[in-house]
Amino acid sequence: MIRIAIDGPGGAGKSSLAKAVAKRLGIIYVDTGALYRTIGVYMLKNNISTSDEEGVSRALSNVNLELKFVDEKQVILLNGEPVGDEIRTPEASMAASAVSAMGKVREFLLMTQRNIAKNNSVIMDGRDIGTVILPYAEVKIFLTASPEARAKRRFEELVAKGIETTYEKVYEEMAERDKNDSTRAIAPCVPAEDAIMLDNSNLTAEGTVDAVIDIIEKVKKARSKKWNGFYAICRAIISFFSRIFIRVRFTGKENIPKEGSIVLCSNHIGIKDVFLIGISYPRQLFFLSKKEWFSIPVVSSVMRAWGAVPLDRAGRDVGALKNAIKIAKEGKTLAIFPQGHRCPGINPAETSVKSGAALIAYHSHADVLPVCIKTKDVKYKFMRKIEVIYGKPIKYSELGFEKGTIGEFKDATAKIFNEVCKLGGYTALPEADGNPETGEAK
Ligand code: C5P
Repeated sequence: MIRIAIDGPGGAGKSSLAKAVAKRLGIIYVDTGALYRTIGVYMLKNNISTSDEEGVSRALSNVNLELKFVDEKQVILLNGEPVGDEIRTPEASMAASAVSAMGKVREFLLMTQRNIAKNNSVIMDGRDIGTVILPYAEVKIFLTASPEARAKRRFEELVAKGIETTYEKVYEEMAERDKNDSTRAIAPCVPAEDAIMLDNSNLTAEGTVDAVIDIIEKVKKARSKKWNGFYAICRAIISFFSRIFIRVRFTGKENIPKEGSIVLCSNHIGIKDVFLIGISYPRQLFFLSKKEWFSIPVVSSVMRAWGAVPLDRAGRDVGALKNAIKIAKEGKTLAIFPQGHRCPGINPAETSVKSGAALIAYHSHADVLPVCIKTKDVKYKFMRKIEVIYGKPIKYSELGFEKGTIGEFKDATAKIFNEVCKLGGYTALPEADGNPETGEAK
């Protein structure tokens, strides 16, 4: 699945670009501006001033919007009736710009937009797609062009539709809309931090499509890359020695997703865990690791090359979390030990766990892969049997996220770690004949 967000000011050519890209890739094109236009036109038709926020908010209870796709073409049903070209007039543009600054209107349209991208590959154009609607989009492009070029294109578009206007009028209206859209308090039209800026003032329509296809191909290629050369070499060496010195059995490897963003969660017995997961996992693993390791010169370089992200375990390390989210968002696998430190010999179900993994999954829209490492002994012992068990991925949609609250993170964490424990046969309350000292399952 791929989600492509195209944001930018009016007249930059977002919709014709998105349509053409959708056609080339065979995916759905969602024109979100049309939703705001529909609300704007509804208000005009019902004599509700688009500057009366309370009136507009109240009127929303009489609006039922449905977004459908017929032959891959978007159709908006307003209270059951399909919407036509009446939303394309200059008045409709101004009304859309006014209502789109209202929190209630944006909230009203939020889920309609998100739901489409839940189960479909989409290219969506708008103002806040990369920042608010699909912050986890695989490709984000902020398309812009000089105000003159954009006004000229919009003017020609309107004339072709038989709408009477002048270039000057279009330019003025565009400048006003630009100002409204980029300075409003809620979801302003600004590029997402990770958006690729594309100025097409001097590009033809086809040239813009080619540039975007090129960006998409590069992103796809980077996402499908399994590992870097250094990682592959280290993995091969560690794998060779591990198989000689460690009696390890891997099960459930068929559950490992071949691609896409993954947060891998495992219980943590000892340092070996990182290597045991690393040699059995068929893609590069990135993991959070205590920052103390990074103050040891050679170790630090090796750790970084291996994909480790330094984490300050003393407090809330925002920088580390941001890095981790970025990694998962890029379609990579981030491995995390929710217990936060090594817990050898303890039934993992009896330890406390931290919510970082859930938080990272929420922000990166990643699925979670539970893994359980099981050994009979209190600590890893030479030549003792170890089992690494991969569970079925928990889909992002199964993690129960809605608003990203602390409560949701805690619930998701409990769900994730419960899966980890279940894989090893551990239960939250050990049976009388279980051995909580060794963590041995009954
Ligand atoms: O893209 P289009 O010109 O059709 O959008 C009409 C208006 O709807 C824009 O001026 C903008 O104010 C609003 N809009 C928005 N967020 C979106 C899409 C459009 O605020 N995602």
